[in-house]
Amino acid sequence: MMDLKHNKERIYQDVSAHTQAAGRHKDEVTIIAVTKYVDSHTAEELVKTGVKHIAENRVDKFLDKYQALTDYDLTWHLIGSLQRRKVKDVINLVDYFHALDSVKLAAEIQKRAQHKIKCFLQVNISGEESKHGFKPSEISKVLEEIQQFDKIELVGLMTMAPIDAQEADLDDIFSKANKLKNNLKEKNLKNMPFTELSIGMSRDYPIAIQNGATFVRIGSAFFK
Ligand SMILES: *Cc1c(COP(=O)(O)O)cnc(C)c1O
Repeated sequence: MMDLKHNKERIYQDVSAHTQAAGRHKDEVTIIAVTKYVDSHTAEELVKTGVKHIAENRVDKFLDKYQALTDYDLTWHLIGSLQRRKVKDVINLVDYFHALDSVKLAAEIQKRAQHKIKCFLQVNISGEESKHGFKPSEISKVLEEIQQFDKIELVGLMTMAPIDAQEADLDDIFSKANKLKNNLKEKNLKNMPFTELSIGMSRDYPIAIQNGATFVRIGSAFFK
């Protein structure tokens, strides 16, 4: 029987401990609860434990949860790849979109957004074929193209590590993502603050926090 309150408290305490161990201020890392494994009722039970940031990776499930949880003051994250034809259904409900992975998708967001949308550029640091995201070498060209879209605010970078990555690989991937994000932040580009780093999931968030994560996306650890 899963104990959501216990899991929530354990995760929040652990994230806080790792944040302080990394010499960082405890408020620097925001926990996002990924509710894709559970129905809206269970997501609501989790929200009642005090979780404030909710994420889904698919548009249909995002909309289900969003509609079921309108009574709560939540911040909504869409973390999975988004098909261009679905942008219009969801983009204006999203507080943070973590998976901007093509200039065509950026153009569609520009067309459909009714306000500025906070987006993470997804980067493929590991070079794994199956992963979405821009190659680091493409980024400066991509930024030039996205610069024309005033509805897109690039708040940071998001990356995912390969499923089978070992600790040393994770450390390497996350530290490269952090350096890249810091370089982009220093450029001070208009509408592109690059202050945030969305890395780390249930199995690797401690390594992500050591490497500058400002958002960790935690799913399965809440629901075991
Ligand atoms: C499912 C998912 C997560 C959470 O993964 P867990 O291993 O369950 O913590 C994080 N990010 C993305 C993009 C996901 O799809």
